[in-house]
Amino acid sequence: MPIMSLPHLPKLLLARLQGKTPTLWINDRLEQSFAPSGDSTDAILDAQARMHRFAPLLADLFPELAETGGHIESALMPADALKRAVAPGGADDASAWFVKRDDALPVAGSIKARGGFHEVLAVAERIALERGLITAHDDRRVLGSPDARALFAQYTVAVGSTGNLGLSIGVMAAALGFDTVVHMSDDAKAWKKTRLRQRGVRVVEHAGDYAKAVAAGRTQALASPRSHFVDDEQSPLLFHGYAASARHLAEQLAAAGRTVDAGHPLFVYLPCGVGGAPGGITHGLKAIFGPHVHCFFAEPVASPCMLVQLASRSDSPVSVYDIGLDNKTDADGLAVGEASHLVAPLMVSQLSGVFTVTDDELFLNLRMLKDTLDVLVEPSAAAGVRGPDWLVTSPEGQAYVRTHHLDMREATHVIWSTGGSLVPPEAVKGFLEHADALARATERAGQAA
Ligand SMILES: *Cc1c(COP(=O)(O)O)cnc(C)c1O
Repeated sequence: MPIMSLPHLPKLLLARLQGKTPTLWINDRLEQSFAPSGDSTDAILDAQARMHRFAPLLADLFPELAETGGHIESALMPADALKRAVAPGGADDASAWFVKRDDALPVAGSIKARGGFHEVLAVAERIALERGLITAHDDRRVLGSPDARALFAQYTVAVGSTGNLGLSIGVMAAALGFDTVVHMSDDAKAWKKTRLRQRGVRVVEHAGDYAKAVAAGRTQALASPRSHFVDDEQSPLLFHGYAASARHLAEQLAAAGRTVDAGHPLFVYLPCGVGGAPGGITHGLKAIFGPHVHCFFAEPVASPCMLVQLASRSDSPVSVYDIGLDNKTDADGLAVGEASHLVAPLMVSQLSGVFTVTDDELFLNLRMLKDTLDVLVEPSAAAGVRGPDWLVTSPEGQAYVRTHHLDMREATHVIWSTGGSLVPPEAVKGFLEHADALARATERAGQAA
């Protein structure tokens, strides 16, 4: 296939991407003073309020949420041991590292709980209001009643996914009684399909990549009037569900005694697939911290879709296939060839940069999280681990720090971990064994040199 001409993509950067060399790309169109519009801020507040309104219902539906009263939140875990293990040199400065534990988000076991649950609840609420089951101020627990289930059974909720979004949408929609269809690419893990089928979800498998599964789902859903398609490539409800997480993170940082201001920058490292989750979170954080938060995405070397979209400065969609990459990675959820058409344009002014990660590094990072913090995640979730290192030691990172006059000794680094708690133990064992084999091979290569 001919490689598309992308005149604004610097030759050197293109060569590094094509060579799958890990790279930090800095976004020179970042508007440091960016602030979300009033409408957008309202939509984030709406999403927060909706999750709050629905918490009692969620506590009824899922026993594992009884403890938190139905609130879907994750811990902000101090990561000093990780800092000591990987921080280049300055491990004794005042900077602090944290891991944001979305790998352990209840019910869905991944970051997809945030956007996915929000969208399904918004759809259920709209139908219940339209059909007169509730009025605006009624207790949302009514949506768990037999009448509500009978109503929702008349509607289909569909989604296209490589796995985790399907799990999140599937579990929530099925719990409310919707007819639920998850379109999956054939690279989706068997255990995810099984788990969904056990809950009565119809799983449809498609040959080809993630974008094909999404397209197939969209076409089928459009053909039937009582069908809602959760569109991972362009859904504002997903986006604002993710953005709503920023408020809780701000509270957690304050509780941990971390100041975020001009003298105390906040860095957040987010694994990126299509961009909805990391983009929504970036947007939510910008609304709170403005210029003092610096968000970086982490993408596999074979699937840097947000990087090529933004770096090429193109107004039309650009895919990783256009520059000759194969979009093949072990990172479930990150194997996405083309960035979200909703999110990429928003990131032009808000995102600080993107770095790429090899699959080997994902496994070594995963091992590092296990050894230093006893945290077990899936490979995708470990993509952000080297973020602080990129900023402190690479020439591109150092230039970014200088340009923005940042004091790295006072920085707070948040490595967003995005999935893993539902992965079956045999699969986790396989991840760790693979990491060990890689570490041994690296050691042998070191000795031979
Ligand atoms: C989906 C996913 C991401 C990225 O989210 P996008 O919205 O696709 O960018 C990161 N990590 C895991 C584990 C995921 O499932």
